[in-house]
Amino acid sequence: MKPRAKFEKIAGCLLVAAALLVMAAGPVCAESELYKGFKKAKYVFLFIGDGMGMPQRSAAEVYLSKEINGGSQQLLSMNQFPAQGVTTTQANNRFITGSAAAGTAMACGIKTNINFIGVDPELNPTPSIAEMARDNGMAVGIVSSVSIDHATPAAFYAHQPTRKLYHEISVDLVNSGFDYFAGGGFIDPTGKKSKNPQGDALQMAREHGYSIITDKDEFMNFRGGKLISYNKRLPDGKALPYAIDTSTLDINLEEFTAKGIELLSQNKKGFFLMVEGGKIDWACHANDAVSAIQDTVAFDNSIKQAVEFYKKHPKNTVIIVTGDHECGGMTLGFAGTDYSTQFEVLSKQRLSFQAFTDHIMDKYKKDHPEGGNFDDMAPMLSYYFGLETQGEGPLVLKDYELAELQKAFQQTMKGDKVKAGTQEYILYGSYDPLTMKITHILNQKAGIGWTSYSHTGVPITTSAMGLGADIFNGFYDNTDIPKKIVSIMGFQAL
Ligand SMILES: [Zn+2]
Repeated sequence: MKPRAKFEKIAGCLLVAAALLVMAAGPVCAESELYKGFKKAKYVFLFIGDGMGMPQRSAAEVYLSKEINGGSQQLLSMNQFPAQGVTTTQANNRFITGSAAAGTAMACGIKTNINFIGVDPELNPTPSIAEMARDNGMAVGIVSSVSIDHATPAAFYAHQPTRKLYHEISVDLVNSGFDYFAGGGFIDPTGKKSKNPQGDALQMAREHGYSIITDKDEFMNFRGGKLISYNKRLPDGKALPYAIDTSTLDINLEEFTAKGIELLSQNKKGFFLMVEGGKIDWACHANDAVSAIQDTVAFDNSIKQAVEFYKKHPKNTVIIVTGDHECGGMTLGFAGTDYSTQFEVLSKQRLSFQAFTDHIMDKYKKDHPEGGNFDDMAPMLSYYFGLETQGEGPLVLKDYELAELQKAFQQTMKGDKVKAGTQEYILYGSYDPLTMKITHILNQKAGIGWTSYSHTGVPITTSAMGLGADIFNGFYDNTDIPKKIVSIMGFQAL
């Protein structure tokens, strides 16, 4: 924890914004609603799909039913949970929340400001349910498909005035003493971007008794002790690859979850395990429905690991699945396709928007400094996305779609940075213009629309199964989630 004076300096401008935009807190969970009088939960799972609202869950389910199950309905595991609730997500100083404020709400049970991590609007540190579990002798694990110092995981172990203090967050991670951190890597472990570097966080972790493993075989064979593990290949922002780009050489989110269960369940007093599906959010920021769907399915596969554990320990396990906010304004229905839905066209996409931009378009740009030729794109559109420039069928591009692609191609080759507030920003966000136009057209052909490159303010779905799960039915605020969890764990209220 840094001194208060520093907090105040850094947060000064944020507090001014807070004064301008104070939002009312959501519905408060009444004491009588809380779970009482039963055996305490010994094994607690909290799964957070970042950017995962009902549209993301539904899109994944429709895709699975059509593509994998030959048209007959296939439900996601999380959608079959017996308790289903609706959760409001607004931050203290902004209606549309961000992952830091939402993570803090779900970790600590308080409304705080945008970008704050584990502190209240006055910057006082607030205890998280993960820290409470640790202090009660339980084992604690934190898993994420994005970097482990990112806002959502950080809210459970760090207390900082802004999510951008990655180095300070990595030091908080080591000092938390939690048993298991896994998934993505670290953005600034040595403090290169810090004004107050405190040494190499990974070296400090070793001195605190952590093993640090990136090799898959070594990871699979690890049998006990404190562990920090991240995948060797971290292609963007120190995060795991998108599920659509993942190979068997990678350690995936499901494997990180399974190992967490194996290690934490060795503790006789039980465990608290938080798992974040962080790249659902990143795919939705970029309006890439296929990558979002594949990452939602990968997240659901991780949840299935917890469900298997629950089947062996049904009397003292609880599993909660929620999201921190919706992202992208994804919806199922588009003006160009009216009432029809053609999710089968989505199966033609072979890679994420990120991989197409980084490995295909960036190379093409480098090879064609003179500006290239749009005709060169036809075989790539066909191979990577199934979009055809001639012939018949739902994937054949209409004249106006080809014209839009051509315009985006020129914008890509020009290479200018798209500025917020311009028409180009509404068309492409801050992403590669051609890649954005391709995924927009493919998504629209499936009957999927997007309204934003940011988060949205719609409430999200929370699901629960196991001991005390029934208190997660109904309509409540994200700050109620940890309050409900601690009541099931039998701890003093937050
Ligand atoms: Zn986001």
